[in-house]
Amino acid sequence: MAAETAAVTDGSRNTDWSRRDLDVLWHPCTQMKDHERLPVIPIARGQGPWLYDFDGRRYLDAVSSWWVNLFGHANPYIGARIKQQLDTLEHVLLAGFTHQPVIELSERLVKITPPGLSRVFYADNGSSGIEVALKMSYHAWRNQGATRKTRFVALEHSYHGETLGALSVGDVSLFKATYQPLLMEVMKAPSPDCSARLPGESCADVARRAAAGMEALLTEHHEEISAVIIEPLVQCASGMRMHDPLYLRLLRGLCDRFNVHLIADEIAVGFGRTGTLFASEQAGITPDFMILSKGLTGGFLPLAAVLTTDAIYRVFYDDYDKLSAFLHSHSYTGNPLACAAALATLDLFEQSDVIGANRRLARTMGEAVADLADHPHVAEIRQTGMILAIEMVRDKARREAYPWQERRGLRVFEYGLRHEALLRPLGNVVYWMPPYVLSEDDIAQLADVTRAGIEEAVK
Ligand SMILES: *Cc1c(COP(=O)(O)O)cnc(C)c1O
Repeated sequence: MAAETAAVTDGSRNTDWSRRDLDVLWHPCTQMKDHERLPVIPIARGQGPWLYDFDGRRYLDAVSSWWVNLFGHANPYIGARIKQQLDTLEHVLLAGFTHQPVIELSERLVKITPPGLSRVFYADNGSSGIEVALKMSYHAWRNQGATRKTRFVALEHSYHGETLGALSVGDVSLFKATYQPLLMEVMKAPSPDCSARLPGESCADVARRAAAGMEALLTEHHEEISAVIIEPLVQCASGMRMHDPLYLRLLRGLCDRFNVHLIADEIAVGFGRTGTLFASEQAGITPDFMILSKGLTGGFLPLAAVLTTDAIYRVFYDDYDKLSAFLHSHSYTGNPLACAAALATLDLFEQSDVIGANRRLARTMGEAVADLADHPHVAEIRQTGMILAIEMVRDKARREAYPWQERRGLRVFEYGLRHEALLRPLGNVVYWMPPYVLSEDDIAQLADVTRAGIEEAVK
């Protein structure tokens, strides 16, 4: 068991400023009233998978600070590359101008993503990247005269971000229900989520069943559908719901057959998270659009890339007065500092066999908590590469969930904080999505805290 506190000292102990946080800040995805009871934790510094506060405590960042931090905090290599860029060119608008980091990054992304993706458009966060892909898909059809294709298909349990377009193609009611009157209407297809398999069904069976549902929907509505959007292999924000790669192959076939774009949102699953560099690789498919963000810069700076095919690029290419151009921009499109961070991140993938090392780490992670599968309040443990999820249930046999109001996950979170771990569950699902630099000892410690935290939460 991890010690209650670790002997860590920080130079600066003057944290008077931190008390002013609740006077002036409004924190993301937070009921601020919770902080009457729960303190906000000021962080002094990070090192590898660890975060350090000002009171000599440390926290193993088991969620990579919302899934962005791939190679640990304060990675010196990425930091040095940003510092170098900082002295040369911090920013320039990307309309009419260009710079070396954005060209190099685009070339390298084209090279490492599935074959056929040959053009890169930039945004500055994941949700904006989703908006780009949705608008581009619709606009591509419009430029070809298919003006009826105005609708999108999203999967049950999907999550694609918080801006209104991205929220529209999401299906997590906690985030979405309130804003429903503001959102565009989207068609919903069944999720291939394998945790919902029926007795005797395999994950491939669930994939085939979900694909049949998609086929029925596309058969009826394909003429009005612009694109299907999916989180390949793992629907992360709705509780790390995993599916068989077979579903992606079937979906690619359906999209081709019905003349509908396939948008792969690899914002969370890209860059080695699922055991391959990109999740789509495991199905051998090329989507029409692929969106990357989160780990793209190793967790240093905001950036998103939307990759698409030459076929789609070409239908926008015409005289200005045809209004066929993609007149979309963000102030920080292709920011050089962010591109430099991304280039350094790609270097790290090239300098050592990160994917191979992840496979070994993933195996250790799975083994470390395997015993929990038999726990009376654990429905199942599921894992895809460097994502491991443990779902707590009230009644295992009947698969009856704890009501969300009981906030069992929050109890795990609080337990973790007292025992050197940053675990931030999604409802009843406790998960690990750690930086790729954690050690076997870190994993063993995390397993102990997770096990004890779950024990405390289900009391
Ligand atoms: C986080 C996430 C987004 C949104 O990205 P932001 O940068 O938070 O806007 C979109 N899709 C998926 C799958 C994500 O995990």
